[in-house]
Amino acid sequence: MDSVLHFEIRPTAEQEKQLFHTFDLCRKLYNYALDQRIRSYKETGKGLTYRDQQNMLPAFKEANPEYKAVQSQVLQDVLRRLDRAFVNFFEKRAGYPRFKDKLRFRSITIPQSDVRRNFGKEGYIYIPKIGHIKLNAHQAFDPSKVKIINVKFQNGKWYTNLTVETDSKPPVSDIQLAVGIDMGLFQIAVTSDGEQYENPRWITKSEKRLKKLQRRLSQKHKGSQNRQKAKHQLQKLHDHISNQRKDYLHKISHRLVQKYVLICIEDLQVKGMMKNHRLAKSIANASWNRLANYLEYKSRRFGKTLVKVNPKNTSQKCSNCRQIVKKNLSERIHQCPYCHVVLDRDLNAAINILQAGLNMIA
Ligand SMILES: [Zn+2]
Repeated sequence: MDSVLHFEIRPTAEQEKQLFHTFDLCRKLYNYALDQRIRSYKETGKGLTYRDQQNMLPAFKEANPEYKAVQSQVLQDVLRRLDRAFVNFFEKRAGYPRFKDKLRFRSITIPQSDVRRNFGKEGYIYIPKIGHIKLNAHQAFDPSKVKIINVKFQNGKWYTNLTVETDSKPPVSDIQLAVGIDMGLFQIAVTSDGEQYENPRWITKSEKRLKKLQRRLSQKHKGSQNRQKAKHQLQKLHDHISNQRKDYLHKISHRLVQKYVLICIEDLQVKGMMKNHRLAKSIANASWNRLANYLEYKSRRFGKTLVKVNPKNTSQKCSNCRQIVKKNLSERIHQCPYCHVVLDRDLNAAINILQAGLNMIA
């Protein structure tokens, strides 16, 4: 697991100008490469890969000599960002990649660092082609463990994010046998290895019918025979949906308990206290509680371990670098400004839940 250190840097006026110029060149390259991909697909029916585009870089630099002012690795990272945007799109974690304006391109990344060069001068960080920039390192770190340097401009200030290797990785075998499960509004459950359990369509359909019947009931006269009949119908449908739901939750919980040895979920009692109670959530809430119950008793029955973790920050924390990335419920994608990881919101939460569970039993 890597962690990211977040420091303020103080470029000189001249360096600042160069950094902004670099952002602008990188942004233009990003947009150019995106255009290339769109065009290639339109004209040949085939998309371009990261490799294809990387191979075009030398010719691009030849035609646009101003790009000699930017380190090659920084340009390669721009193409990699675009590639990630496409991967996220194809894997349905994000929308189609968009062209970026100046406000949306405010960082550069230097993928590999040459320790002696980057941190050879005390109190400074060396950024190729820009020079030594004053670094306000309020926290000690081992320069030899720095893997990625990211420079960004945010709220009128300059920062560097250093991705530092930390060697607290749990053994691989444990990861495969352990799972974190996020229970959400859009999907009943998302696992830390990316499996999604959706609300089945037949349930949504039945629920629509339920609403219709409820409306019909409210229109009938009190005490009338028709009302009695409608009430009976409603109750029947209600039971039917409830059974469908239980059946589905049994299937999910059975599968999960068969597949894993350690199952980590959020402690819903703690979560419940933090959530405000809106009517729309009540159905989801009931399902979560039921799924949690099923997982609990099935785990016990099959000799598996169920861990309930504190739900605090499971959706806000970046599962890659552990920084807090605030987002409201409508934001479905976790896009980390610190380490640039882009993940489905629920998947990010599920990984955090797994990590919290592994920490608890460690
Ligand atoms: Zn991150």
